[in-house]
Amino acid sequence: MPKFIGAHVSIAGGVEQAPRHAAALGARAFAMFTKNQRQWSAPAYTADGCAGFAEGLRAGGFEARHVLPHASYLINLANPGAAANARAVDALVDELQRCRALGLDCLNLHPGSSLGQVSREDAVARVAGSVNRALARTEGVMVVLENTAGQGNTLGASFAELAAMLAGIHDASRAGICLDTAHLFAAGVDWRDAAVYAASLREFDGVVGLRRLRGLHLNDSKSSLGSRVDRHESLGAGRLGWAPFERIVRDARFDGLPLILETPDESLWPLEIRGLAEAGTR
Ligand SMILES: [Zn+2]
Ligand SMILES: [Zn+2]
Repeated sequence: MPKFIGAHVSIAGGVEQAPRHAAALGARAFAMFTKNQRQWSAPAYTADGCAGFAEGLRAGGFEARHVLPHASYLINLANPGAAANARAVDALVDELQRCRALGLDCLNLHPGSSLGQVSREDAVARVAGSVNRALARTEGVMVVLENTAGQGNTLGASFAELAAMLAGIHDASRAGICLDTAHLFAAGVDWRDAAVYAASLREFDGVVGLRRLRGLHLNDSKSSLGSRVDRHESLGAGRLGWAPFERIVRDARFDGLPLILETPDESLWPLEIRGLAEAGTR
């Protein structure tokens, strides 16, 4: 089965430009921010914008399930402050509604940080509670939590912590996971090693469940194994090298999932996408 490979594209000029940017790369999947990711609020989409996005999907041959929008980095669902937490949940609700307006069914999100103010267990429970509140106010769109490099007080670097968040979310049909290869490597999981790759996916299946996986972020890592530092690199140019990505595109467990590049050199995206697609057919 062919893989659905793409990149995190720009929404400059409006969200409706994203499918066109992705199609120009030769992508079969893509990610984008739903709005300016550095601001809390943004104007609502217009009817023309939503119609333009749908037309872009159709013209580019994209299916909604191969689009994995990324939420703003400002949202910290673990924030222990009541007002700050309410603002984060409001912002998540807005992003889920934007996805719904575009006809999309998933939103990728970083779980958050304890800010060093509460225990990790408490922070994990706050993430789940915040997601529950946002899901209760929205319909149809799934929250997809991304594994992290585990820098500082950031949550979600381990499968166990991701599983604990999922366990606290009441509607399992609206909560999934996205795995980022650079974050895994920085968190100490060495997918350069075929045996580690196999073992870690067995562990993921046991602890989280492969059925909960909604996408992968394909990034090489500038930072070293276990460094807990989140620095993406172009495929093959970082510490991971090319081999893990060949393994991924030949792995039937990732059939049908969006596989998204977040590599730093956008000019290489068409080559990276083509190289991965070719590797997947060999
Ligand atoms: Zn991310
Ligand atoms: Zn990522």
